[in-house]
Order: sequence, then C-alpha cells, then structure tokens
Amino acid sequence: MATFDAVLVGSGINTMTAAALLAREGWGVCVLERSDRLGGAIRTETDYTLPGFTHEVLSSWHPLFTGSAAYAELGDELHRRGLEYVNTRFPTATAFPDGRAMFLQTTMEANVAEFDRYAPGDGTAWQRQFEGFMANADLSFGVLGTELWSPAGLGLGRRLLRRLGRHGLLEFAGHALSTCRDWTTSTFASAEARGLLAPWVLHTGLGPDNAVSGFMTQVIACAVQLGGMPVPVGGGVRLVEALEGIVRDAGGDLRTNAEVARITVSGGRAVGVVLADGETIGATRAVVAGVTPTRLYGSLLRPTDVPADVRAAAARYRYGRAGMQIHLALDEPPLWKGPDAERLGQTAIVHVTPGLDGVSRAVNEAERGLLPAEATIVAGQPCAVDPSRAPDGKWIFWIQLQELPAGRVEGDAAGELDVGDGTWSEALREAYADRIVERLGESIENLSTATLARKVLSPVDLEAMNCNLVDGDIYAGSCALDQNLVWRPLASAPGHRTTVEGLWHVGASTHPGPGLGAGSGYLVAKELTKPPLPRRVLAKIPGRS
Ligand SMILES: Cc1cc2nc3c(=O)[nH]c(=O)nc-3n(C[C@H](O)[C@H](O)[C@H](O)COP(=O)(O)OP(=O)(O)OC[C@H]3O[C@@H](n4cnc5c(N)ncnc54)[C@H](O)[C@@H]3O)c2cc1C
Repeated sequence: MATFDAVLVGSGINTMTAAALLAREGWGVCVLERSDRLGGAIRTETDYTLPGFTHEVLSSWHPLFTGSAAYAELGDELHRRGLEYVNTRFPTATAFPDGRAMFLQTTMEANVAEFDRYAPGDGTAWQRQFEGFMANADLSFGVLGTELWSPAGLGLGRRLLRRLGRHGLLEFAGHALSTCRDWTTSTFASAEARGLLAPWVLHTGLGPDNAVSGFMTQVIACAVQLGGMPVPVGGGVRLVEALEGIVRDAGGDLRTNAEVARITVSGGRAVGVVLADGETIGATRAVVAGVTPTRLYGSLLRPTDVPADVRAAAARYRYGRAGMQIHLALDEPPLWKGPDAERLGQTAIVHVTPGLDGVSRAVNEAERGLLPAEATIVAGQPCAVDPSRAPDGKWIFWIQLQELPAGRVEGDAAGELDVGDGTWSEALREAYADRIVERLGESIENLSTATLARKVLSPVDLEAMNCNLVDGDIYAGSCALDQNLVWRPLASAPGHRTTVEGLWHVGASTHPGPGLGAGSGYLVAKELTKPPLPRRVLAKIPGRS
C-alpha cells in the first residue's frame, strides 16, 4: 500500500495550494483527482471552439489569487515555474441598455472622476468609502483570511474590540451585515454607480438584497481598485502546472482518473482513502478533502464515523443558484456601441444589466425557479487583458450567467421559452443562450456577424465537469449568511477541522467560500505545519528565533 504524510482529495485551487505548501515543508503528499485533469474549476482549453482559440472553460479571473496569502508566499516560486500575470487599467464596467456605461478603474483619481461624471459628489463618496474601508482593511480582509472558529478567530475579535471599542465593534458588525442595496443607495446618488457595483455581488454567490452583500460588494470594489483584474498569460492552467511542479519536484504524487470512494477511519482517526477501483492509499498525518459536505459526510465517510447531528446537517446543506457559461470565438474584436465604446473594448469584465434593480429582479426570478427575463450578463473579454488567447486580430468572449434556478426550471419569466419538463435539455440550453447572445448583441454592433463559433455549458454540463458544482451551483453551496463565514460549511462542523481526527475539509464549500483565493487550502496547510507550541512561545521571546 502506498503511504504518504498527507492525501488530498480533489485537485482544486485549495488542495493544490495545500499540497504545494506541505510539500515545501517536506511532507510526502499525494493528490487524487477523479477527472482526467488537474485544476478543478481551473480548466484552460486550447482549440476549444476553434483552432488557436484558448478558453478558460470555467473560472477565468485571478484577483483573489494574486491578492491571497498563498500568492504572497508562493508567488516567486510560481513565477520561476512560468506563471506570469497580466493586468489592465479597465478591470470592470457596466453597460446599460441605453448605451451609457460606467467604469471602475485602478486609480483613485480615475474613479473619483468617473463617479462624479454621473452625479457630482459621488466621487467624494467613493473616496470616503474606500478610505473608510481601508482604515480597517486588515480586519475586514482578516475575517476572510482567518480560521474564525478558533483561537485565531477569537484573537481577530479581540483586535477589533481593542481598535474600535464596544460601540465601534457593534457598528462595524452591523455595517458588515447590511445589504448591497442599502449600502449602495445610501452611499451613491447615481443609479449608474449602483449599477456598476451591484452585479459584483453575484460573484460572491449572493444577491443585492442578501445580508452581508453590502460588505462583500465593498470588499470586491476596493480589491478591484487596488488589484485590477489579473489573468495568467496563456490561462489558469499555468498556475495549476506551477503548483503541480512544486509538488512533483518535492517528490509528491498527483494522479488523475483517481476517484476517492471512501476515507478510511481507524480508532476515530483518518488513516487513508480507498479509490473507486479498490486501491488503498495510506495517510499518516492528514487527509485533506476538497469536496462538498454532502459528499464528505454523506458518502466518503461511513455513518458510524460521523456524529448523527453532523451527518443530518450535511444532508441539509443547501446549494445556491446555478450558472451557465457561453464561450464565443470572434473573427474580430467587438464593436461596442455608445460614447464609451473604446473603453468598453478594453475592459476585462463588462456587466450588461439595467442596474441594481435589474440584478435584484433577475436574482429573485432565478430563486423562484424561473429563467430571468433580463439576466445580468457577465461579458468577460480575456483578450482585452491577454491577447495570446486568440489568433492575431481575433477575439473571444467568456460569458457567465449566475442567475439560473437551482435544480428544476419551473418556467420562463419572459414567457418566451418552453422549459419542457424543467431539465436542462440541449434545446433549452441553446434557446436560453440564444436569448442572452441576442441581448448582448444590442450592446455590440458586430456580435452576430463576427461570431465564428459558440459553446454553451448548462448547469448540468458544469456538474458533469466537476462534481462539486452540485446542480450547476458554481460556488459549491449557497453563500447565504447561515452558510457563510463562521457557519460555513456547517454550524455543527464549522471551519476546516472535522469531527474525525486528522481529516480536514477545504474548498469552496468551506470558509472563506468560493473563488480562487486558495484561503482554505492555505489555512489548513499552515495549521498542519505550524511549529509545536513550545517553539512558538520561544519564538516570541525577543532575541530568540
Ligand atoms: C464556471 C465558473 C467560473 C468561475 N469563475 C471564477 C473566476 O473567474 N474567479 C474566481 O476567483 N473564481 C471563479 N469561480 C469560483 C472558483 O473557481 C471556485 O470557487 C474554486 O476554483 C473552487 O476551488 P476548490 O478548491 O473548491 O475546488 P474545485 O475547483 O471545485 O475542484 C474540486 C476537484 O475535486 C475533484 N473531486 C471531487 N470529489 C472527488 C473525489 N471523491 N475523488 C477525487 N476527486 C474529487 C473534482 O473533480 C474537482 O476537480 C468560478 C467557478 C466556476 C464553476
């Protein structure tokens, strides 16, 4: 039986990051991936639509990774292994149906001018909110980078209390719980500013009327001004390859087509895994599972290995709205309409929506089981940042929809499409994609004439690619407050330490949730490799190291 210090289940950004960090500390690690390639939701495909066109089939944008603790630690080594990031001055914009557009850029000066363009005074409001947020950024970002259900989480709470005082802390917490609607409407006068920021809340798995969505919008908006919208030259696969290289060079093993069917527990401790083909692999120090709670507690562990309340809570874990991806190959760059056409053509992510109410309505329709009448179109333009993604003079679109019903489709809010029995048939998938592309065409003059090829992934197709995307939920679990922060993944098993000794839970279903920030993988790797307590105490004594 092959035996390693740590066995990692799945090869998403979190397990890959954890594997690299553990391998660098001398751990023998083995990554087991059920699909035919490493990377999970990082999946770059060359010649995907047509020869010479390189598409990010799933995730595309890396601001969360370049802003992460993992990147701070591994960045130099990843760059030595060929990873290179490129960025843009125009990370995001919203294009409104009447041809106007508003942009969020990477300097305070540009953003103040842009907010003032639609409502004098909004520029100052933007600056004030940015500076206010940054004054406590270590604490705000700290919430997302700390194991909340632990002494470190308690320490963060104490720091907040010391800095802000009792009433300040209450105010901070109340503010953090507010909705995107309340925050944007009370901060900005123009509908354009609200329409610029509101779609970003979708990228945190929330809607603009959900608790905490105001805080999440601010986190993203500030992060975009600070960090832009970086992508790896050539695609996310470069990051996966670089992480893989770290693991392999340290003697670790990474296997594809290796589905973990069971985690073996002996004497209350995880001691290895059994693959679907029956092979057993041992783990002497840790098993790190990058899977959903449903799978972890419902099938990878035996009922007798898990307390009944945890198993019941895992069975109740909710998945959120589904997603869809549309990939287009174009013969030439898009000709956006309106006075801001040129800048729109240089923008990484353009949201096409009527604004805050448009996002709110589409989210509400999707949550009621309907195809939204006017979905928020996330029109990603990878070539605006990394021209290597298409042959010279050509273009690709990475289009994301995040407002689709979880599970069965009950109907069409526009009353146009026959949803049949509510399952994602090829006909429904293509008909819905037609509607989206047609709407996008209202903002782009040459979209239909320039399109050479298209591929669409329905919620069912997404889950088929990555079983963590249950029912096509691209965030592996609803991010509503009762499943977020200290409650993620489960109130009865919060954080990453599980009820089984030596078994750790990471990935989008765990705190700090979805995205390429590698937060859970980083936290677990750090916990596993932290020096024993006496050495940590000695290290704090001046003059000792
Ligand atoms: C379509 C889409 C677009 C996105 N766009 C962005 C973006 O642009 N920027 C961003 O920051 N975030 C984006 N996200 C979110 C982000 O990509 C994910 O939250 C993140 O990649 C999840 O990482 P993870 O570590 O949870 O593992 P995942 O990427 O979910 O990978 C888990 C892996 O585990 C494997 N696995 C599961 N069970 C087993 C088993 N039993 N045995 C072996 N292997 C198993 C799966 O096959 C999968 O490969 C997007 C997500 C999706 C789906």
